[in-house]
Amino acid sequence: MFKYVFVSGKLVIESKAKVPVRDRGFLYGDGLFETLRSYGGYTFMLDAHLERLFFSLKVLKYNLPFDKEYIKDALRRTIDKNNLQKRDAYIKIIVTRGIHSGELHFNGGYKPNLVIIADSLTPYPEVDYTKGINITTSSIRRPVMGSPLYCHKLLNYFENIFAKNEAHYNEAQEAVFLTRDHLVLEGASSNIFFVKRNIVYTPPLTQNILPGITREVVIRICRENGIEVKQKNVHYRDIINADEIFKTSSIAGIVPVKKIDRFVVARKVPGNITLKIMKLYGNKVEYLISRGISCYNKYKFLSFR
Ligand code: PLP
Repeated sequence: MFKYVFVSGKLVIESKAKVPVRDRGFLYGDGLFETLRSYGGYTFMLDAHLERLFFSLKVLKYNLPFDKEYIKDALRRTIDKNNLQKRDAYIKIIVTRGIHSGELHFNGGYKPNLVIIADSLTPYPEVDYTKGINITTSSIRRPVMGSPLYCHKLLNYFENIFAKNEAHYNEAQEAVFLTRDHLVLEGASSNIFFVKRNIVYTPPLTQNILPGITREVVIRICRENGIEVKQKNVHYRDIINADEIFKTSSIAGIVPVKKIDRFVVARKVPGNITLKIMKLYGNKVEYLISRGISCYNKYKFLSFR
């Protein structure tokens, strides 16, 4: 069966899909993307993902000729065409600035290009959730704060894949970025949380991190369920002495961590609080699905924001 992707306003067979070689996404990584998933046709947190995307498109001055409803409609059609209406799907929404005109700045009269990919989702190994994963710190050190870029999900993802490769080399599943003064920022493709004496901690958005959608859901879940959660600077020594550590992302959800670098989490993995949050997260997803809110209810997406 053919796979279809949405490119330049049309659904085309993936093997025949084309993006111009002069597209600035290809030439310079000048574009943004969102990765999200659906659960049995329900596109989880789509509004929040689109909000983050449109915020970045505005701030970084993409001259967008379409609105959120256009993307929702294109996504619905992509899911439909790939027969993913009732399945778990991996979804990628990509916007590039368009074909390069010769000017490196943003005002070259660019016309953005939209690409949507939807494919069946390959779940992460069950053992990741039941026994935890290893994470490792990247050799890359980010500035403490002040970069105008890390809060956007830029197509230029080289720093992240470089760090992922370092993790892979060290037999870990995720890499974590630190500052030069050893503050923990975020994972290469996730946000980081830890638990100490029943309080959940995560680095604040004022540092150079992506405002993760799953991070936001987890913070809300904690607040709604009487779990104390604090957004504060996290030092490397805090995390290596944590009772529990977990990472969050849209595709993987909440994944417990059993080891960071050479430091093994001393308590049981997943820890009690992590397990509770994983369960509450699962309930949240099920609740939304049970209300019948899928990508087909075009104008009825839910958002926690
Ligand atoms: N931080 C970075 C750098 C990421 O690339 C991602 C996701 O890919 C996340 C955090 C998690 O964000 P979300 O929960 O929105 O998937």
